[in-house]
Amino acid sequence: MRLCKIGWSMHEFGLIEWIRQRTPAAAGVDIGIGDDAAVCRLTAGRPLIATTDMLLEGSCFILAEAGPLRVGRKAMAVNLSDIAAMAGAPRFALVSLALPRDATASLAQDIMVGMQALASEYAVAIIGGDTNTWAGPLAISVTLLGEGHHTAPITRAGAKPGDAICVTGALGGSILGRHLEPCPRIAAAQYLASNYAITAMIDISDGLAKDLHRIIAASQCGALVDEQAIPIHADAVRLAAQTNKRPVDHALNDGEDFELIFTLPPAEAADLCARQPVPGVHIHCVGAITPSDYLLKRPTGTVALEPGGYEHRFR
Ligand SMILES: [Mg+2]
Repeated sequence: MRLCKIGWSMHEFGLIEWIRQRTPAAAGVDIGIGDDAAVCRLTAGRPLIATTDMLLEGSCFILAEAGPLRVGRKAMAVNLSDIAAMAGAPRFALVSLALPRDATASLAQDIMVGMQALASEYAVAIIGGDTNTWAGPLAISVTLLGEGHHTAPITRAGAKPGDAICVTGALGGSILGRHLEPCPRIAAAQYLASNYAITAMIDISDGLAKDLHRIIAASQCGALVDEQAIPIHADAVRLAAQTNKRPVDHALNDGEDFELIFTLPPAEAADLCARQPVPGVHIHCVGAITPSDYLLKRPTGTVALEPGGYEHRFR
């Protein structure tokens, strides 16, 4: 953990020490925060699963509205959701903070408190990172290292025509607040991958329509989604009252639900939906993988399904 002192009110070693003291010793960490690099061990024979995500103030959150605790929590949560999407087990995290030059030391501390709370909930050890100040807004980058659980990592590329398409929870309207407090589906993904023949999986960061499209693009097939089977979150209904859209449009296209979309043989999906074996997670079957085309079945007929969803734009 390195700290650039320019304009920074807390002594560099003070913040590093503050973070280090709140980072408990963890299995697999030979050398954690405080040296030039961390040294860690994965479980023997398991593949490394690595992901990184950068959250930017003004684009991914508004600090004054969300507060630093929830921003720190979200920065860890979005990475956990990506490890969940591979049915992996999260292990080690590296955290980089770019702080506004006029930020107080307590901003960095509160971000870390929010992040560490979720990290310990998911048995993730924060092993290092970097902190700097600059003239721009707050930016937080978390790199999360995980490993395969008891199965090979699940990719986006294994869906086959005939497979059922399932999701792990109700969708839409997360902008009303849920996007700041996602519940990464680590345990659900591990259970599903260990007990069912999951063929492809992704987490919903940019909306059901867009993220399911990523599965069919990677798997080189199509999909038919049954509009009436899509689980609609109460927030999507509340939001639709303000936007004049239909609640199902929010469920299809809003981002940051951080639920899972996965595919599996139809008999297994029927068993899964009947048994509902994952505590706290209700699984819904929303459609089927087809050889080609991306379609939405409405009560009035079948139409083309636009990938839609949230798009990060670059100039
Ligand atoms: Mg993802």
